[in-house]
Amino acid sequence: MQDHRPYIGDMTLQIPFDNSYATLPDGFFARVTPEPVKAPSLIAINAPLAHDLGIDGLDDPNLADVFAGNALPEGASPLAQLYAGHQFGQYNPQLGDGRAVLLGETVGTDGIRRDIQLKGSGRTPYSRMGDGRAWLGPVLREYVVSEAMHALGVPTTRALAAVRTGERVVREQPLPGAVLTRVAQSHLRVGTFQVFAARGDTKALQTLFDYAVARHYPDATDPATFLNAVMQRQAALVAHWLSLGFIHGVMNTDNCSISGETIDYGPCAFMDSYHPETVYSSIDRFGRYSYAAQADIIVWNMAQLATALLSLMPDPEAAVEPFTAQIHTMPEMIRRAWLTRFAAKIGIADPTPEDARLITDLLTLMEISEADFTNTFRGLIEGTARDQFSDPTGFDQWTEAWKTRIAREESPQELMRAANPVLIPRNHRIEDMIASAVAGDDAPFHRLNSAYAAPYADHPDHADLRQPPKPDEVVQATFCGT
Ligand code: AMP
Ligand code: MG
Repeated sequence: MQDHRPYIGDMTLQIPFDNSYATLPDGFFARVTPEPVKAPSLIAINAPLAHDLGIDGLDDPNLADVFAGNALPEGASPLAQLYAGHQFGQYNPQLGDGRAVLLGETVGTDGIRRDIQLKGSGRTPYSRMGDGRAWLGPVLREYVVSEAMHALGVPTTRALAAVRTGERVVREQPLPGAVLTRVAQSHLRVGTFQVFAARGDTKALQTLFDYAVARHYPDATDPATFLNAVMQRQAALVAHWLSLGFIHGVMNTDNCSISGETIDYGPCAFMDSYHPETVYSSIDRFGRYSYAAQADIIVWNMAQLATALLSLMPDPEAAVEPFTAQIHTMPEMIRRAWLTRFAAKIGIADPTPEDARLITDLLTLMEISEADFTNTFRGLIEGTARDQFSDPTGFDQWTEAWKTRIAREESPQELMRAANPVLIPRNHRIEDMIASAVAGDDAPFHRLNSAYAAPYADHPDHADLRQPPKPDEVVQATFCGT
C-alpha cells in the first residue's frame, strides 16, 4: 500500500491539482497510494467534464493506468479520508474511505474547487474487512446514473472515468473489477463532522468547520447559519429527487454530503410505477429509505449534523434548544421546495398552498392505477397521461380542475417541459447495460450515456428507453455497491 510509486514524468495528461484537504492536520486522513491492478483498460473518459476541471492532454496513452491508480499523475497527493456515520440508524464510530483514494483537487473553469477521487482503488487503513475493490456493475451504474442526474439538473457528484481492472473481485461469485473516478464539490459528509464530535476532539471539529465554511458556505460564519445553509441545500436536493421519482437507497449520514450534492450511488433507482413506499435496495429491509421516507430521513440526518456542531458552541447545553427549534423548521422547508417542484410539473409557476391539493389528488390517482411516474407527468404535455389510468374517470375529473387552474398561468407548457423529463435511467435498462458490459459489450453503456445526456428532449432514436419494464423485466431489488 505504501510503495510510493514514482510519478510518470512524460505524461501528456495534465491535471492542474491544487490540493487543500491534504494540508489539514494528521488525523483527518491517511496518506495512501492506490493499489495497482493487473490489466487496466479504459471504458470511458468524460471529456467535457475533464475540460471543465481544467484537465488537458486526454490523448495520453496512460489514461487507463492513471484512472486505475497504476500511475500517479503529477501533483496528486493521494489520501483516504476519515469519517464516521449512522448506518440505518446505528452509529459506526469509524468508517472512512475503505476503497477510495482522493487524488487531489482542481479549481475548475467555473472557479469551483472539486475533488478527484478513485473508487475501487484498493485497501486503505479504513477498509476494515473489505477488499477495497468495486465490481463493474456498481461502477457503471454510478457512472450512468450520476451523469444522468447532472443532465436532469440535480446537484450530484460526477463521473470522470471508468476503467476495467483486468482482475476479478469476489462477491457472491467472482465478478470483473473496475475503478470509477468520481468528482465532487467535496467529500465532506455529515459523518465527517460526527467522527470528531463523537471523539470529543473539539479542536479538529473547529478546523473541519472552518474548512467546510471556506469551501462551501463562506457567508456562514457560525454553526447555526452553517447548519441552516446545509439544511437549505439538502431540502432542495431531496425535493428535487422526489420530483423525479429518485430513490437514493442508502441515506446514511456518511452518504449525506455537506455540499448538498447527491453522493454514493449504491442501490439507488428511479421509480417506474408510482408508489410512495417504493424500496429497491436489498439491504433496506424495513423501508427506512423508501421513496417518501427520504423527506423525513434528511431531517433526521440534519439533526445528527446539529448534534455534532453543538460542541462548537460556547455553551453547548444552552444551544440544544435553539438548534432543536432550527431542525424543526426543516419539514416546512422541504414542503415548500416540494410544492414548487411538483407545481412546475403540472405547469404552475407560483404555487399557493391550495395548489398542493391538486398535486396530491393526481398522485393518489397515480398510486391507485400504478401509473408510470415519468410517463404520466410527461404525458400531461403530450396528451397521453390518460392512458396511464385503469379507470380514467377520476383522471378526467382531475383534468378539468387542472385546466381551470392553469388557465391562469402564463407559460405552463414551458414549465412542464423543463420539469418533466422524457428519459430517466430506468432500472431494467441499467441492469441490461451491466449484463452486457459483464459479457464484454460496452455499447449499451455508451448508448445510455449519450441518451441520458439530453433527458428533456424527445428523440425518436430513444423511444424504447421511455418504456417502463414489462412484467418479466421488472427489477425487484438493487444490491449495495460493495
Ligand atoms: P458505502 O456503503 O459504499 O457507502 O460504504 C460504507 C463504508 O464501507 C465506507 O466506509 C466504505 O469505504 C466501506 N466499504 C464499502 N465497500 C468496501 C470494500 N469493498 N472494501 C473496503 N471498504 C468498503
Ligand atoms: Mg458511502
